[in-house]
Amino acid sequence: METLLVFDYFISHEQEGLYLTVPFTVSPDVESLELTYRYGRHDRNEVDLPQGVFTSRPEINIIDLGLIAPDGTQVGASGSDKTNIYVSEARATPGYRPTPLVPGEWRILVGAYKVAPEGVRIFYEITLKDKCRRLLKGDLHVHTLASDGVLTVTELGQHAVRHGLEFLAITDHNQMARADALPSIPGLTLIPGIEWTHFKGHATFSGVDQPYDGPLAANTPDEVTTRFESARARGALITIAHPFDETCPFHFDMHALPFDCLEIWNGPMRVSNLQALGYWHSLLVAGKKIPVCGGSDYHRSQLFLFPGGPTTCVYAMSAGASDILAAVRCGHAYISYAPDGPALEAHAGEAILGDTVPFSSTTDLELEVSGLSAGDVLQVVTAQGSTPLLKAETRGDFRGVYTMTAPGFARIEILREFIPGVPMLPALISNPVYFDDL
Ligand SMILES: [Zn+2]
Ligand SMILES: [Zn+2]
Repeated sequence: METLLVFDYFISHEQEGLYLTVPFTVSPDVESLELTYRYGRHDRNEVDLPQGVFTSRPEINIIDLGLIAPDGTQVGASGSDKTNIYVSEARATPGYRPTPLVPGEWRILVGAYKVAPEGVRIFYEITLKDKCRRLLKGDLHVHTLASDGVLTVTELGQHAVRHGLEFLAITDHNQMARADALPSIPGLTLIPGIEWTHFKGHATFSGVDQPYDGPLAANTPDEVTTRFESARARGALITIAHPFDETCPFHFDMHALPFDCLEIWNGPMRVSNLQALGYWHSLLVAGKKIPVCGGSDYHRSQLFLFPGGPTTCVYAMSAGASDILAAVRCGHAYISYAPDGPALEAHAGEAILGDTVPFSSTTDLELEVSGLSAGDVLQVVTAQGSTPLLKAETRGDFRGVYTMTAPGFARIEILREFIPGVPMLPALISNPVYFDDL
């Protein structure tokens, strides 16, 4: 859905030299704005000369453009150079800052630099595109040169795009990444973040420039809690990173801390990730609703180590960082072993992964899976156990329904024999749909 606003605005010669504003309304859930304007900038005078005709094009009107957000801040200004601009949270025309199209009264800044004696009429066209849910693939845990990685953010971002990723949270050890210092990379949403890295555990705080004040150091439980509570208050997505990692497990009591998400799949699938999966499953069985995500923890390319290994696939309302993180926070996501790994769409009525439906009204979980390999096992996992739905004979896709027999959660796993003779490992793990006994 999109809304087209078309209007004109007249400036008299007496207003020359003034900065004027023209208001327009942005309704809720708008993803992007595209603005175009035109006016009679040049006069055309044809002069007959003995040797031919000369058409002069003197500038009789020069009208500047700027954009002001509802909070009064300048989103951008482009003089009279650009007659078409684009703004969204994910990207913007140079000279304008990427910013969410928050609902409210926005204003066009009209700079009446030069106005002809008869005045000038300016014609504006604004296209407002609504948000809509789409699948985006990304990585929520990577390192750059700012800590112990080997690539700059730009190099890593370009590498990620080549791997098929659409978002990347920069989470260097104890280094905050500022959103306005992140480069603009076409097709990629870069999310500011940090991996708070303590001897006793790591957590990523993503989506805000500065999740906490002061240094990383925390020597008491209270100081640890303060870091997490500050990150929560400032709106960061808090993820407990690699909770069972061989070298850096999470020794703090995570349930005494505010957090949004559990990174159950960190880098290549291995014992510590299977332990995290098992621990998460036990929390689900106990009735907790905790979203999970993956992160490659990419530092440099090595065997099995690449951006998007694993890939967190989110159903987000826009390509903006806040909508991507909101989707992670809601569990509107699944984890696939690679950007080109299997893909999943699951819903129960209107509810998607991460949502809750009443068991009394909805018991069917509808699934669409693509990118299965020969031998893959697709299974639904509930508190009662695992139910295989398919063992794929060949490469292919699957569409089907699983009917819940009791209230609780249902999540999807695809198991694959990646290396012949080695036990099957997850190729995909989804967040559950919850069927509550309301
Ligand atoms: Zn770590
Ligand atoms: Zn890390």
